[in-house]
Amino acid sequence: MAEEKEYGLSRIEKLCVEKGLRMTDQRRVIARALSEAADHPDAEELYRRAAQIDPRISIATVYRTVKLFEDAGILERHDFRDGRSRYEELPESHHDHLIDVHTGQVVEFRNEEIEKLQRRVAEELGFELVDHRLELYGVPIQNKAAKR
Ligand SMILES: [Zn+2]
Repeated sequence: MAEEKEYGLSRIEKLCVEKGLRMTDQRRVIARALSEAADHPDAEELYRRAAQIDPRISIATVYRTVKLFEDAGILERHDFRDGRSRYEELPESHHDHLIDVHTGQVVEFRNEEIEKLQRRVAEELGFELVDHRLELYGVPIQNKAAKR
């Protein structure tokens, strides 16, 4: 997600423009920090990153802005059970998350069998699946830690 880092609009900025959101300088900085994030930062971490670019940004502005982006559907909010909301740019393609319960590290994955199975379960219950969220929580297996 580092493309167009320096020049042009970040993907979130483009989405904001499409949705008719007014882009202030501070919103733009926050949008960029989000677009460049490869992890799933919470508001405080986002604030730290945004404040490095523009020290006038306040934590309140970050909270307001992520809420605005979330309501506009250009940001996904996650609750990975550590009491902090985490944010990521709305992914271009679907993925699920595995969370290391010790470190809080988030691993993204996609598994076609799970995708298929979920659709089938919904169908058997008389539904067409339109969305889902799946979070796995785990600890690294010592001698298989490198198995990815
Ligand atoms: Zn993700």
